Amino acid sequence: MRTIVRNGRIVTSIDDYSADILIEDGRIRAIGRDLEVGSDARTVDASNLLVLPGGVDVHTHLDWEFGASHTADTFGTGTMAAAFGGTTTIVDFANQSRGAGPLAGFDNWLSRAKSACIDVGAHMIMLDIDDAALADMKILINEGVTSFKMFTAYPGVLMVDDGQLFRAMRVAGANGAMTCVHCENGPVIQVLIEEALAQGRTGPKYHMLTRPTLMEAEATHRAIRIAELAGAPVYCVHMSAAEALQSLAEARDRGIAAHGETCPHYLFLTLEEYDRPDFDAAKFVMTPPLRTHAHQDAMWRGLRTNDIQVISTDHCPFCFHERTLGAKYSKELGRDDFSKIPNGAPGIETRLPLVYDGGVRTGRISLHRMVDLTATAPAKLFGLFPRKGTIAVGSDADLVLFDPNERWAIRAADHHSRVEFSLYEGRPITGRVKKVLLRGNVIVDGAMWLGREGMGEFIKRGASGGLA
Ligand SMILES: [Zn+2]
Repeated sequence: MRTIVRNGRIVTSIDDYSADILIEDGRIRAIGRDLEVGSDARTVDASNLLVLPGGVDVHTHLDWEFGASHTADTFGTGTMAAAFGGTTTIVDFANQSRGAGPLAGFDNWLSRAKSACIDVGAHMIMLDIDDAALADMKILINEGVTSFKMFTAYPGVLMVDDGQLFRAMRVAGANGAMTCVHCENGPVIQVLIEEALAQGRTGPKYHMLTRPTLMEAEATHRAIRIAELAGAPVYCVHMSAAEALQSLAEARDRGIAAHGETCPHYLFLTLEEYDRPDFDAAKFVMTPPLRTHAHQDAMWRGLRTNDIQVISTDHCPFCFHERTLGAKYSKELGRDDFSKIPNGAPGIETRLPLVYDGGVRTGRISLHRMVDLTATAPAKLFGLFPRKGTIAVGSDADLVLFDPNERWAIRAADHHSRVEFSLYEGRPITGRVKKVLLRGNVIVDGAMWLGREGMGEFIKRGASGGLA
């Protein structure tokens, strides 16, 4: 099976040139001008298009049970949506269940992930961190699960205490794995939530008002300091607060292996969305919540200065209406109580066009920086590089053919997620994903879907948390 991508403008995190790409057995065999190939090779024309490395999204929650709720996308629907958005690899969250070991959680995740249409890796969410679980972490690392996630938020549901966090970080760091931390002070936030509810403040806006930036900053600082003592690399997920970013920047300046990620919703939306009438604001209930313009500016600054290395989606899809898929998949679970609104929003299909349109075209970041933030850096930090995250001889032929000039508008009706709304409904965009190749197979061609469920492979990742 040979394919040649002709006449494209190849853009990586460092390169920008026009050449042909010859693909053989799913990998890039050669890159060059006017490559000679036999007549058996299939040609993909990339004239007037950018050829980018397939996107790597290291923060998704597909087919995930979260308290009383369940995310709305299967691995099949979620990864098809990802592909249409120019993403060819995700790293999704497997989780330990209370009272069960992490290995059982990983087996459960593997069986759910079988329907994936693009390549998938797993982080493991750790909940009960005892000696047996710590031993299982080493087994998982050998299986290619080279990152773990812990929460300082959601007491009684997902939260671990600082001692557990420290113990897990030490094991991860000593064995070549990254620790991802959801940084918010859960117990303090719980007090604020209970006080708000006692005062009859039940609307979606109170989700934002009970999760102050200071408590994101406090937990970010704490997680980084604990990682520092543990001698382990740390990755702060979904950063939204300027004060939290300040802690990260300070640690990085001291040479600590601390890393950060933000998400498109923090870059393109602000807390004004919570003033929407009726229950509509519930669509924007994700954690951390949307912040002010000043915090948004701080995130952009962090992307420019490399204090933040990654833009991931935190695609955690819940429908708006109960009638769409059923109550547990829906925001309506929290109609009378904001603390019961499932936390999370869709976004897996809109990352690349949003960052191109709102980041590159506006001059906030360069085209190379966009590729770095959405493909190369996450691949490097999470043990996927150079197989994923770049365009090079020997790398997987995961390619996105992108038209930088096409104008269109985001419409949930055109999306492939099972969620019936978009946070960006009607937003005009310039720049669109036209074709996507997964290991040399064209899986997206304009509006046409040529992929299939099950063609995604589980990727055993190498050591994580190294230098980006
Ligand atoms: Zn998340």
